Amino acid sequence: MNILVINCGSSSLKYQLIDMENEEVLAKGLVERIGIEGSRVKHTTTGKEEVIIEEPMPDHRKALELVLNALVDTNYGAIESMDEIGAVGHRVVHGGEKFANSVLIDDAVMEALNDCIELAPLHNPPNIMGIEACKELMPNTPMVGVFDTAFHQTIPMSNYIYPLPYELYEKYGIRKYGFHGTSHKYVSQRAAEMLDKPIEELNIVTCHLGNGASVCAVQGGKSIETSMGFTPLEGLAMGTRSGDVDPAVIPFIMEKEGLTFDEVNEMLNKKSGVLGISGISSDFRDLEEAAANGNKRAKLALELFCNRVKKYIGAYAALMCNIDALVFTAGIGENSISIREQICDDLECINIKLDKELNQVRGEEAILNKDLTSTSILVIPTNEELMIARDTLELVEK
Ligand code: ADP
Repeated sequence: MNILVINCGSSSLKYQLIDMENEEVLAKGLVERIGIEGSRVKHTTTGKEEVIIEEPMPDHRKALELVLNALVDTNYGAIESMDEIGAVGHRVVHGGEKFANSVLIDDAVMEALNDCIELAPLHNPPNIMGIEACKELMPNTPMVGVFDTAFHQTIPMSNYIYPLPYELYEKYGIRKYGFHGTSHKYVSQRAAEMLDKPIEELNIVTCHLGNGASVCAVQGGKSIETSMGFTPLEGLAMGTRSGDVDPAVIPFIMEKEGLTFDEVNEMLNKKSGVLGISGISSDFRDLEEAAANGNKRAKLALELFCNRVKKYIGAYAALMCNIDALVFTAGIGENSISIREQICDDLECINIKLDKELNQVRGEEAILNKDLTSTSILVIPTNEELMIARDTLELVEK
């Protein structure tokens, strides 16, 4: 069966068509600037040249229509007709407490998704738009929702509850939800396969280090703690997000700088993190170059980032007694040799010993140490699309 995986952002749509017979990607692409002037589809069918289709796209429905046309195009398409798409898997950011697993989408699920908008006002509406557009264009194709939060629904209450008045949890669902769940699940399962050990017996710490970044403690295959919280703002310092700060800082800066709630929210989400500290860039390649050229604030931003990751690894080692495997994934985790080295530096105290020679890899699966008595350190490129396609296939076949 071929499965179309859709990931809708507010003005973008990423897609992959995967043949589940052999889990091969038949085609993939990206739609940019939906609803904005200059919208375009970048489409690549495996084995063919990339094509760019420039056409006005006022909404996600039009974007999806162009994607489907591209997939069946006689010159640059991957399939002959839409009937060859057996099911669609949608990435959905927030499933609240309602979804601990992926689900077949029906009217009741749509209602529950709408209820979750309050929890993720920026992310869920475009996800829902993508589902609505698909329902219109492919009314007979089954669809599945796969949630970023679902994997973390196994976190015990003592880890997910915030030390705030308990009524806030009951009234508004204020608690840690965690994100990047599909990625943490994929790489932890893959780590167990690479180490040839049953996941049920492993304590794994997974570090998803991209523009958004989070760490997860995976015990016996289940998430028991993660660094992101009620929103993706908590935890590590990220490209532009602050991560953990003393909450008292927020009313303080609002008063001192005369900021509105929206302005302070924008500052914490878009102008903080390593961008805020360095004043240069949120991109780690720029920061590494600037630090190498003696820029002190770029160096400080990188040190702060690595120290935060280290602190979470240490905390999760304490929660799980020991760590069998430490996994690096996403843009920075997969590609930055020096960030992995800085994070692992001086962690012998918790049995983490990186082999600097084996660490010279980018963007491919690798085990970064050979010493069997210490924590295995792995690089695993994440594959959220494949994970979404696998869940979709499983539910559709049921
Ligand atoms: P997201 O999906 O959250 O946007 P990615 O997982 O694609 O993010 O990661 C993007 C980040 O990865 C970039 O901002 C950049 O900092 C980092 N990155 C990518 N390649 C490299 C590299 N070779 N060295 C260092 N950092 C890199």
